Amino acid sequence: MSTTHKNPQTLKWQAMSRDHHLAPFSDFQQLIDTGPRIIVKGEGVYVWDSEGNKILDGMAGLWCAAVGYGRDELADAASKQMKELPFYNTFFMTAHPPVLELAKVIAELAPAGMNHLFFTGSGSEGNDTMLRMVRHYWAVKGQPAKKVIISRINGYHGSTVAGAALGGMAGMHAQSGTIPGIEHIAQPYWFGEGGDMSPDQFGIWAAEQLEQKILEVGEDQVAAFIAEPIQGAGGVIVPPDSYWPKIREILAKYDILFVADEVICGFGRTGEWFGSDFYGLQPDLMTIAKGLTSGYIPMGGLIVSDKVFEVLKQGGDFNHGFTYSGHPVAAAVALENIRILRDEKILETVREETAPYLQRRLRELLDHPLVGEVRGVGMLGAIELVKDKTTRARYEGQGAGMICRGHCFNNGLIMRAVGDTMIIAPPLVISKAEIDELVDKARLCLDLTLQDLQG
Ligand SMILES: *Cc1c(COP(=O)(O)O)cnc(C)c1O
Repeated sequence: MSTTHKNPQTLKWQAMSRDHHLAPFSDFQQLIDTGPRIIVKGEGVYVWDSEGNKILDGMAGLWCAAVGYGRDELADAASKQMKELPFYNTFFMTAHPPVLELAKVIAELAPAGMNHLFFTGSGSEGNDTMLRMVRHYWAVKGQPAKKVIISRINGYHGSTVAGAALGGMAGMHAQSGTIPGIEHIAQPYWFGEGGDMSPDQFGIWAAEQLEQKILEVGEDQVAAFIAEPIQGAGGVIVPPDSYWPKIREILAKYDILFVADEVICGFGRTGEWFGSDFYGLQPDLMTIAKGLTSGYIPMGGLIVSDKVFEVLKQGGDFNHGFTYSGHPVAAAVALENIRILRDEKILETVREETAPYLQRRLRELLDHPLVGEVRGVGMLGAIELVKDKTTRARYEGQGAGMICRGHCFNNGLIMRAVGDTMIIAPPLVISKAEIDELVDKARLCLDLTLQDLQG
């Protein structure tokens, strides 16, 4: 990327990056040395970089662009709302139409008994809100000792202080520590950690870690368990079939709240409105963001069950909120995004046509010598890169994932690497022809990666 440039402006932008821009989750020196790829335009499932390369975005931006890029209706909804009422807060006994209409629409889509919305500016803020809300809930119920939140190693719940602590990302904890009152249990990652157990045995084992942790901490100290229905940033970890039923059984035994972090799975990614619908989960709270607005504008929130709301209602002021909670422009965009998802029957198409096609075509890659497992649900997929398919041994220390990611980018496909797991989450509107292009390019890049690893 740093060597040849067709567009002189690319170098100027890279200089601006070098001199002034601190990018998230980046090695600043590497950014200086290499310079970022500058993305300048998006249309449908494609983005273009400043060098004129057209790239199929297999990650929907960052799990966000459900309806794809370039939807004028979303821009128009924002523009109209900005002219009408660009901002007003929802503090101090005020509200505005977009936030109220959005709350009603989301409550209609949410699982039964989840009818109340608290809005935030992001998924991280949603999880911060969750932490404060569940502790407040137990205090109002007269059990203030119930403060501990159980989450999972390698889960991702955001990058604020509470979000990073709730998440189970070792690299994040190492840099700034975590906060008290959060306990992590094993993740249901059979391919990486299942050893000699069958996937279903391992799923049961991983679920039992929840019960063990509840008993170890004491039920009277545990406020909630939080989990993504399918871990996204951790590597699109689809749990073994035995996992969620066992977790449900355990949750039913103990008086703790269950929080589904639906920031990735929500709004159609699995072909259902929420990952909780897909797995038949009954959360007390659900965190949302990303697909809520297709990423066109930042917005997140927390869907709160009637059960939790009935208690909170008795608690006086909930001393929490963000200036941009329920921002009218974001709410207008979210409403229009949901209208598109509904009117164009995008979930139905995903569920009945394109997701089964994507999953079938992705699994064809299993015949590739580098591929140890292909898994996925809906518009989520993961490809495990291995040296040995039967032992699941990796190309240790060779950065196979990053090599593959580089080949993808250079060949017009964005796939993300989580270690040596390649992951995809394309826009929900991807067509069968575009899925063919994605899988064909993925195969080419696997070939190129294998050459590099063996060369
Ligand atoms: C992205 C993500 C978050 C954090 O959302 P932000 O909008 O980046 O703060 C939280 N949970 C999950 C599951 C996510 O994927």
